[in-house]
Amino acid sequence: MELNPSDTHRLEKFLNEIKDKTDSFLGYPVSKDFDYRGLFEFLQYPLNNLGDPFTKSTWQVDSRKFEQEVIEFMAELFRAEENDFWGYVTNGGSEGNLYGLYLARELYPSGIAYFSRETHYSVSKNLHLLNMRHIMIRSSENGEIDYEDLYETIKIHRDKPAIIFANIGTTMTEAKDDLTKIREILDRLVITERYIHSDAALCGGLAPFITPRPPFDFKDGADSISVSGHKSFGSPIPCGIVIARKRNVNRIARSIAYIGSLDTTITGSRNGLTPIFLWYLIKKEGMEGFKKRVNDALEMADYTLRCLKNMGIDAWRNPDAITVVLPEVPEMIKEKWQLATADGRTHLICMPGVRREQIDEFVEDLKQHREVGGH
Ligand SMILES: *Cc1c(COP(=O)(O)O)cnc(C)c1O
Repeated sequence: MELNPSDTHRLEKFLNEIKDKTDSFLGYPVSKDFDYRGLFEFLQYPLNNLGDPFTKSTWQVDSRKFEQEVIEFMAELFRAEENDFWGYVTNGGSEGNLYGLYLARELYPSGIAYFSRETHYSVSKNLHLLNMRHIMIRSSENGEIDYEDLYETIKIHRDKPAIIFANIGTTMTEAKDDLTKIREILDRLVITERYIHSDAALCGGLAPFITPRPPFDFKDGADSISVSGHKSFGSPIPCGIVIARKRNVNRIARSIAYIGSLDTTITGSRNGLTPIFLWYLIKKEGMEGFKKRVNDALEMADYTLRCLKNMGIDAWRNPDAITVVLPEVPEMIKEKWQLATADGRTHLICMPGVRREQIDEFVEDLKQHREVGGH
């Protein structure tokens, strides 16, 4: 059976559209510099990593061995304690965040979750799903959590365990909550029952390569970290990685006879291809390759900011961020470059794969719009 010519044509047309649309976006935190064509053959098999990545299962068409290596690489990147980490390749950053909160709730059923106003939209839904008590904290102008408000709020609830949902790169301004400051607050209030989850959806793949290293990982006090695989790393299928302290995970694991494995993950069937993509990227890039990509992206952000400022545009970015924030741009430009806008601010993200010519063209578009009298 083959596709008829009209359907074949439709797919070809779609392919070209996707190519153009991928090339022109500047507003979403997704890398586009990857090439996984070497893994083409794997599309022919029903790979499925159902169950726990570290436990053998009766089902064997899996890529668990590769997944384990990805987890080990990430655990090292996030400075997890040796022999005290566990994790898996998720369907994306949101699932890893849900997992982190789930773990926190199981450990501290009476805890209160604190998160800032700038937190990703999926988090309130997750808190609702988990039926967790939660309090929203004010954000500062740059998008970071307001530490004063955090202190005052936790102070009122000192009798309850504190579950901190920290943003390591907010969606709009890529602001990073400072784990050192958060821990100081918990220490000052003598909160010993505490859990810190780092939502490092974008910055998990950037922060480890930045000097000075932002405080966000296990050494800095995190109990779990979630990162997206399709953002700073790059993947044709959305995915992510979640890492947690093993001793915490062991307290909630349940053994399931049907799959002959442990039901430690949120979903049952799990993508078997994405761990191979991530493994392939890690092997090809290595620490040096990742570091270079991050440096290049930071340079591009610096270049973008300079161009915009030279034009007299009131643009800014957080320290060592690849996200450049500017006053809301005209609709036409938003549409052409697929730029997200909220609260009168538009952002542009210099992900790996964004080219200097594109920034120049974007800046030119803004200039043109001004000259014809737009606002
Ligand atoms: C993208 C993002 C998420 C969600 O991650 P997905 O991989 O899209 O599920 C969560 N938090 C932040 C800060 C993000 O930028």
